[in-house]
Amino acid sequence: MRVVVAGGSGFLGSHLCEALLRRGDSVCCLDDFSSGPAANTDPLLPLTGFDRIPCDVTARFQVPGDVDAVVHLASPASPYDYRRHPLRTLAAGSRGTENLLELALRHHARFVLASTSEIYGDPQVHPQDEDYWGHVNPVGPRSVYDEAKRFAEALTTAYRRAEGADAGIVRIFNTYGPRMRAHDGRVVSTFVRQALAGEPLTVFGDGGQTRSFCYVDDLVEGLMAMLDSDLPGPFNLGNPNERTVRELAELVLRITGSNAELRRQPLPVDDPVRRRPVIARARAALGWTPRVPLEDGLRRTVAWFATRSYESDTCGALSE
Ligand code: NAD
Ligand code: UDP
Repeated sequence: MRVVVAGGSGFLGSHLCEALLRRGDSVCCLDDFSSGPAANTDPLLPLTGFDRIPCDVTARFQVPGDVDAVVHLASPASPYDYRRHPLRTLAAGSRGTENLLELALRHHARFVLASTSEIYGDPQVHPQDEDYWGHVNPVGPRSVYDEAKRFAEALTTAYRRAEGADAGIVRIFNTYGPRMRAHDGRVVSTFVRQALAGEPLTVFGDGGQTRSFCYVDDLVEGLMAMLDSDLPGPFNLGNPNERTVRELAELVLRITGSNAELRRQPLPVDDPVRRRPVIARARAALGWTPRVPLEDGLRRTVAWFATRSYESDTCGALSE
């Protein structure tokens, strides 16, 4: 297969590109390097079967050659990024999704949309299965991301129904691992960076809110299983092992051997109180199940961060 990975130089995208190349697929990475550094995919450039086209998927772009599948990962993903870039985020979910669906349709290619647990908003149903319609504030600070992804899901579904596109949706829950940007504001990268530097860990609110953290290798396996199927989904992809933010902070302190303090900061507006995926559908339909326990995944993540210099943690338009 030749797979177009839009957002392929980002955190998830670069791991996906590597995994596809490892199993013998060709990969064409599209990225504007706004929130994923080129350095994530520079080492792939000499490899046979890999090419990279710097472009903004919300504008005009060309992909020469065959296309057998398209994965749309190109969007700001961390709350810190999308709050600062609301219009870019809405464009990625709307125009970006349309452009990539058109590309897939022209080539009769499989299309997979990387949607998100954020489409459930601040959920009133717990845990969340795919039949839950969500609880999203349409004008709150997170709405640009949540509504862009909800629109992208609707568009993907319409292309499948009205145009016969081989299109499917996965809803990704909080995923972590090597190559997260140290300053992307997400909780795992922030806590690990702070703990390694001996700085206080910034716990928002009372730290009682929960998330369910999936290691990147597991997530990439789920994405590939979805690429290889012709199913519409939507399927939740995540690890149902739910933790409070305070528990995560304590685990990071233990793994890093840090005795830094926890410092309370105000809870951001509309921060979801709890989140845990039901993954029965992905298990049954894709034969997928996450395997890496949080402690193991965090150890690998800490080991990677420990070798980094954060001075160079900048990339393109989203770093200010
Ligand atoms: P990321 O920011 O590391 O990756 C996004 C990539 O897309 C970056 O390389 C960025 O430069 C690129 N990009 C952004 N806008 C673009 C545009 N208009 N044109 C071309 N390239 C563009 O984030 P990530 O964590 O790897 O997330 C990847 C995708 O998965 C996103 O769509 C995100 O919404 C989704 N997702 C991720 C998570 C998670 O926990 N990581 C959870 C839910 C959903
Ligand atoms: N969070 C925190 N301290 C930080 C960053 C995040 O306590 O320095 C909290 C945040 O309020 C949220 C959880 O951690 O409740 C996950 O935040 P993240 O931005 O990683 O992802 P999302 O909110 O999109 O799930």
